[in-house]
Amino acid sequence: MQGWTGFFLNIDLTKSKATPEPYDESLALNFLGGRGFAAKILWDTLKQGTDPLSPENKLIFATGPLTGIGLPNSGKLVIASKSPLTGGYGDGNSGSWAAVNIRKAGYDALVIEGKASKPVILHIKDKMCEFLDASYLWGTSSFEAEDQLRKKHSKLVGIISIGPAGENLVKFATVVSQKGRSGGRPGMGAVMGSKNLKAVVVEGTMSIPLANPDEMKRLSVDGYKELLTKPLYSFWKRQGTMSTVEWSQENSCLPTFNFRQGVFNKAEGISGFTMEKMKVSNRGCPQCNMTCGNVVKDSEGKDSELDYENVVMLSSNIGIGNLSQVATLNRLADEFGFDSISLGGVLGFAMEASEKGLISEKINWGDFEEIKKLIIDIAYKRGLGALLAEGVRAASETIGGGSIDWAMHVKGLEISAYDCHIAPGMALAYGTSSIGAHHKDAWIITWETKAGRENYDQSKVDHLVKTQLLRGGTFEALTVCRFPYNSLGLEFEWYRKYLRASTGQDFSMERLNQISERILNLIRAFWVREYNEKWSRNLDVPPRRWFKEPLTEGPMKGSVLNLEKYNTMLDAYYETRGWNKNGVPKIETLEKLGLADVTSQLKLR
Ligand code: SF4
Repeated sequence: MQGWTGFFLNIDLTKSKATPEPYDESLALNFLGGRGFAAKILWDTLKQGTDPLSPENKLIFATGPLTGIGLPNSGKLVIASKSPLTGGYGDGNSGSWAAVNIRKAGYDALVIEGKASKPVILHIKDKMCEFLDASYLWGTSSFEAEDQLRKKHSKLVGIISIGPAGENLVKFATVVSQKGRSGGRPGMGAVMGSKNLKAVVVEGTMSIPLANPDEMKRLSVDGYKELLTKPLYSFWKRQGTMSTVEWSQENSCLPTFNFRQGVFNKAEGISGFTMEKMKVSNRGCPQCNMTCGNVVKDSEGKDSELDYENVVMLSSNIGIGNLSQVATLNRLADEFGFDSISLGGVLGFAMEASEKGLISEKINWGDFEEIKKLIIDIAYKRGLGALLAEGVRAASETIGGGSIDWAMHVKGLEISAYDCHIAPGMALAYGTSSIGAHHKDAWIITWETKAGRENYDQSKVDHLVKTQLLRGGTFEALTVCRFPYNSLGLEFEWYRKYLRASTGQDFSMERLNQISERILNLIRAFWVREYNEKWSRNLDVPPRRWFKEPLTEGPMKGSVLNLEKYNTMLDAYYETRGWNKNGVPKIETLEKLGLADVTSQLKLR
């Protein structure tokens, strides 16, 4: 096999045992890597109904055939598991030297199960794997853990760790790498914590088998140079995704006061241009020359790495207009190991619940000091923090009072940072995303505003499906960053050239789309299998707030989604996907994709 190492490392933490497992080439050709490998492993090896926080759940760190070979924007991995937050398929990607080192150690993925009897660090060095005592690190922040581990091991090792949020099983805890590269929104950090796994340290020195190493070297050099020629490159380096703050404000898409207003009267204070005045450096994933992490000094003088999502969820959505304060909350989120998007969603939910008198605690919008305290309470599950640590879906089920209408989530995952009162296509993207309400698979909202935002027509469905295949399928299976393509306009042909040099195979768009279809259908099957009797098409509908409560401010004030039209669009989406009226893949769809065996485990209602 060329392009892939052909091995997974299976780790059983209960038995302190690591076993390299060769896998068949057909797996690589049918699922590519990253999210594809993760979905296949979880489908094949997890029993239906597995408790996500039990030793039986698997935690997977998966790479792709372009990882670790020096290509631009390729230093990423996918972290996947059955999610404790949603109960369905969960994953996220993160930039980390661990991605590069897993491949150089001779593996395409780490597949971790079991539970260590006491806190451990998994240390992998090429073919060696040891289980080191982590008691001295348990309770430390993800930053502190990484600092200590980096001192102990060599400078170039890959380190992934969790903070107190993961240790304490907060349902939206992430795993963190390189002080700010946090991934695995649907509670991948809690799964790691449930296994008593504080950190993974990986060192690899081996070479990765490539079909055409000389061509790969040339393409790598050319690829980096090509990015420098893109007209948007220099502005991207200045602001990264932060320019989206202005765009969202202008287009009434800014999450504001728990997704009510669409615009924020203090938006200028959190904009990309304000950030530029505070910026001290750029940080980013390994092997990237368009690093997008904007490092600023926060209100306590510490470094915090900002991007659009974490900024707006921790500012406009909770009523804070001071970027230094937002930076502090964001840094706390990274140190504790929270997903900052869900954290902002949970805080916004708590403030609205407080405003409406549904909880006894008084949490005022924009109260920076109280919010800081509440974040720490969530990490340690104290008082109100214990309720919020379960996420907004569970919190709304507990407090009731009609809060289900404004618990802003899909399938249990808090909505990421775009208000969709007047963006039905993006609402459908959230509704049908592979992990719950996340924008990663199909960030179509800027396209939609140009394409006619009030339409609910087939063209939006077609664009959504195409985007999900490319971003949610191909990019997540390759585990490469989508920003060069998406934000700088790099031609997709580059990735096909990289793939040819790596694997020796020609991956046409048609072939890649078929692989993506296979992956996304398997993920949908996983959701249906795990939800079983509770599965319903209503799970693909975003919260009622967007349908019942019009935008309260700004030029689009009064706008609201139409539920009947949304459902018609959802029907069209299912039809295009080859799914039945309940959103379940049809037998013929699964058979066409070589997933006939999946049908026996699904009730095809
Ligand atoms: S553009 Fe940003 S997210 Fe993408 S690889 Fe570079 S630093 Fe990572």
